[in-house]
Amino acid sequence: MSDVAIVGGGIIGLSVALRLVQRGADVTVLDGGDEGAWQVAAGMLAPGGESEHEDPALIRLMERSAELWPGFAAELGVEVGYDDTGTLSLATTADDVAERRRVWARQQLPLLRPSELRALEPALSPRVRAGVFAPRERQVDPRRVVGALRERLSDRIVPKRVESLSDVDARTVVVAAGCGTAALTGLPVRPVKGQVLRLRGEPGLLRHVLDAAVDGREVYVVPRADGEVVVGATQEERTDRLVTAGGVADLLRAAIDLVPGLAELELAETTVGHRPGTPDNAPLLGRLDDRVVVAAGHFRNGILLAPVTADLVAGLVLTGEADPALADFSPRRF
Ligand SMILES: Cc1cc2nc3c(=O)[nH]c(=O)nc-3n(C[C@H](O)[C@H](O)[C@H](O)COP(=O)(O)OP(=O)(O)OC[C@H]3O[C@@H](n4cnc5c(N)ncnc54)[C@H](O)[C@@H]3O)c2cc1C
Repeated sequence: MSDVAIVGGGIIGLSVALRLVQRGADVTVLDGGDEGAWQVAAGMLAPGGESEHEDPALIRLMERSAELWPGFAAELGVEVGYDDTGTLSLATTADDVAERRRVWARQQLPLLRPSELRALEPALSPRVRAGVFAPRERQVDPRRVVGALRERLSDRIVPKRVESLSDVDARTVVVAAGCGTAALTGLPVRPVKGQVLRLRGEPGLLRHVLDAAVDGREVYVVPRADGEVVVGATQEERTDRLVTAGGVADLLRAAIDLVPGLAELELAETTVGHRPGTPDNAPLLGRLDDRVVVAAGHFRNGILLAPVTADLVAGLVLTGEADPALADFSPRRF
């Protein structure tokens, strides 16, 4: 019997496992091998850009995790695409500007004119009307992060789908199964579909992450150092895995309107993932009963929230004491 079994070997389960192993726990990670949301995620680390509808406790958690990211990335010991160039938040039409102004005002970032934006990012379309530079909104490559975690924890990971928590032989069970958490615990985690594209070209077309409102549509464009450009994402209350013509068309139209040069890139990958959503969009972090701890429901921000989740959940498992930061995220709050 292990001390701790973690159900789910996505970014959350593996990050928690890393912290537990570092603190001397005997840990096994059971992973069913399904595609996790991390395989699709762009990896924006955006504690401010996402904040319009979020609760203050969640914003504090996101900000705390954003501060942990540089150390967490360095600790993984390999290149995981952590990039602190920053994000341009952009708007094209007058309505888009009006929509974005509220977020920009809360972030207290100075509004930049189109000429100033194009000085920072020459490939932007002349259609861009206004924007801000958000230096604390960064990015990481989730595929590289999970690859590095899998490498570090290879002797702890067992390929196994868990059908029932009563089958798991461990003193403590951490459920970190993303959208699979609902079936195991009965907690209200629902899949929210997102379609994401990956384009490929020569590096250097873009430097910043772009997060934009284009003709009323939200789109983000995330350039990696190797020339990959991630374009995302739709948000649909659907469980299927279909890449749709409409989804791809909407994303490409908005992205190319924003950066015309993207039209020359190869359309290398079209993918679908499901964000593990909860009724209030905040994660479920904490004890469910004497044996079971939950670390799930990270919705749109699971990459950002991985380091803080790892610290708080490992602390809870090892000491039995819940950090005050967990108070607002109890899995029993619904
Ligand atoms: C389109 C899209 C874009 C996103 N962009 C961002 C972004 O830019 N920034 C950001 O911070 N977040 C982003 N996210 C959110 C982020 O990807 C998720 O919040 C995060 O991946 C959740 O991590 P997780 O480990 O809980 O779940 P997952 O990454 O989904 O991993 C779950 C794991 O559990 C395993 N599992 C499930 N059920 C079982 C079972 N019964 N037994 C054993 N194993 C099981 C699966 O095989 C999988 O490996 C995005 C998500 C999507 C879909």
